[in-house]
Amino acid sequence: MCDESWIDAVFRGFAVVTVHGAGYLLSPDFPPKDRLMPHSKKQIRNIAIVAHVDHGKTTLVDTMFQFAGTFRKNQQVQERAMDSDAQERERGITILAKNTAIDYHGWRINIVDTPGHADFGGQVERTLRMADAVLLLVDAAEGPMPQTRFVLRKAFENGLRALVMINKIDRPDARVSAVLDEVFELFIELGAHDDQLDFPVVYGSGRDGYAVLDMKDERTDLKPLFDMLQKHVPAPVQDDAGALQFQAATLDHDDFLGRIAIGRVKRGTIKNGQRVALCHPDRSKATLIPVKGLFRYEGLNRVACEEVKCGDIAVVAGIEEFRIGDTLCPPEQQDPLPPIHMDEPTISMEFFVSNSPFAGQEGQFVTSRQILGRLEKAALRDVALVLVPPDSSEAGEGYELKGRGVMHLGVLIENMRREGFEFSVGKPRVILKKVDGKLCEPYERTSIDVPTVSAGKIIEYFGRRRGEMTHMEPFENSSRIEFLVPSRGLIGARTALMTLSQGMAILSHVFECWRPDGGPLPMRQNGVLIADRTGDSIPYGMFGLLDRGTFFIAPGTPVYEGMIIGENNKDNDLGVNVCREKKLTNIRSAGKDDNVKLPPPHVMSLEEALEYLEDDELLEVTPKTLRLRKRMLSEMERKKQTRKDNKAARV
Ligand code: GDP
Repeated sequence: MCDESWIDAVFRGFAVVTVHGAGYLLSPDFPPKDRLMPHSKKQIRNIAIVAHVDHGKTTLVDTMFQFAGTFRKNQQVQERAMDSDAQERERGITILAKNTAIDYHGWRINIVDTPGHADFGGQVERTLRMADAVLLLVDAAEGPMPQTRFVLRKAFENGLRALVMINKIDRPDARVSAVLDEVFELFIELGAHDDQLDFPVVYGSGRDGYAVLDMKDERTDLKPLFDMLQKHVPAPVQDDAGALQFQAATLDHDDFLGRIAIGRVKRGTIKNGQRVALCHPDRSKATLIPVKGLFRYEGLNRVACEEVKCGDIAVVAGIEEFRIGDTLCPPEQQDPLPPIHMDEPTISMEFFVSNSPFAGQEGQFVTSRQILGRLEKAALRDVALVLVPPDSSEAGEGYELKGRGVMHLGVLIENMRREGFEFSVGKPRVILKKVDGKLCEPYERTSIDVPTVSAGKIIEYFGRRRGEMTHMEPFENSSRIEFLVPSRGLIGARTALMTLSQGMAILSHVFECWRPDGGPLPMRQNGVLIADRTGDSIPYGMFGLLDRGTFFIAPGTPVYEGMIIGENNKDNDLGVNVCREKKLTNIRSAGKDDNVKLPPPHVMSLEEALEYLEDDELLEVTPKTLRLRKRMLSEMERKKQTRKDNKAARV
């Protein structure tokens, strides 16, 4: 039995399997009494926590762990227990949905983490399949945001009930009752039925570890939250003896275990070593296969076990053919569950082997085989990434990867940099699709919070980018403005909005629908400054070009012909010599050069650089450097190409 063997293993001090590297030991004052209860006897509750980014989900899960005693009292709890990926910590967002389980007074509460960023929306949808209810977490000051609306709509579509926690009530600017009203209005707007409208609610602070039923109650601990979960999350249907149905809701990849399928046992019991049929939703021929590894969640870890019963969440390892939505059934009773709808990718990007004159100087993995291998691995781990088979891709020499947004692909690029890869990428492009015979493009519901003084500029900006304003609402000294904007219009918007609002705008967006192609959008307004030779940039040379535009590089940066080193003040591209040295006269003016005062360069982040690119440009990515460049490095070649393009346009 999985329960006893697990307890045994921990008693003897054996390490438990840790796949995401979070590496926590289990349990407080181990073993607490209720922990010794066999899992099979525990009451299971499956809940998905959904929230807009930054509304405090990760922090709340941490304090829930502490309250339930999953960490030892004297154990230093690493903050943000659920976000174990390095980038997740830095960016403060959850990228890969992870599951955890909390043992609480004889109850087993499986918590499904959902990514809080629009680019990762596809995962929200799939993880909801594992839950029986959602805990909707709403910031007491900010109120519901587009992502809140998105996940809630998905939860209602899946027939789930939402429990509400108004979080961060400790904030001085908390507007608790107004936010509760806004949540209620949102429920009505999304067509919640009576039962869903009658939602239970607690108010609390995840950070400070308390929840209350009434704002006047004393703020002590999280018990009211746990009570609400026990009372209002429906118990899963218990049908341990029925024929097995286990559907993969998420896939992961582990170097030792291979493909990992995570999902819920819908019916029956899954056993390690058991022979099963891997069935596709379309009921095509099933594959017979043994279950080679079976795990369940304990705290933040995956623990090997012998069986997982109906209603619980299981992790099945080693079935390479597993796809999202496939069901494991007994060979003699093949009864697959309906397919899981997947959000389609909206953005595509090309990855190339770097052919810059500086190629291979900083990276460890630079060949096309290495890059392709890494992209294949990424697509295996994250089903929302689609790698177009090289022979059917339009990327020519490169590889085309499709994802859910610039940030989604940006996260992969940043990971690859950190692992030592060097490569180039092209401009992110929006994917078009035929709907009813018409070419359509993705549109996103977009919400911007901005100081009211900047609202006019933002409305004008989105107006130019075919945004349709759907809502505007004052909000203390700021305004919330909502638009329906083509995804194309959002590329580069984050940077532009920051400039227009002196860094104050908060932008969030989420896919809404496909609409007929809206025609051309304004391109980048300015041309670029391009280095016309290889060398090191010299302060003197740069100083002479100051009136031409803004530099992206500091003095002393190695440059090559065709590398973009700044933005032109005018709309055309301009080749410049930043390596020009001062002619030495007889009387050496030593040290003079050092006195040249240059404004600080505009150094772009990875996402900014991706959003800045035009079609004829690439971003060169190395573990140490990001360089913008022209696809064609030689000015002669570029001129020839422009002439050719102009000719073709006239024909
Ligand atoms: P997530 O993106 O939803 O996972 O949000 P996080 O848990 O990362 O929290 C986002 C930010 O809000 C962090 O800076 C937290 O310290 C802060 N935060 C979380 N919970 C609370 C709370 O209850 N009160 C206040 N004032 N801040 C909180």
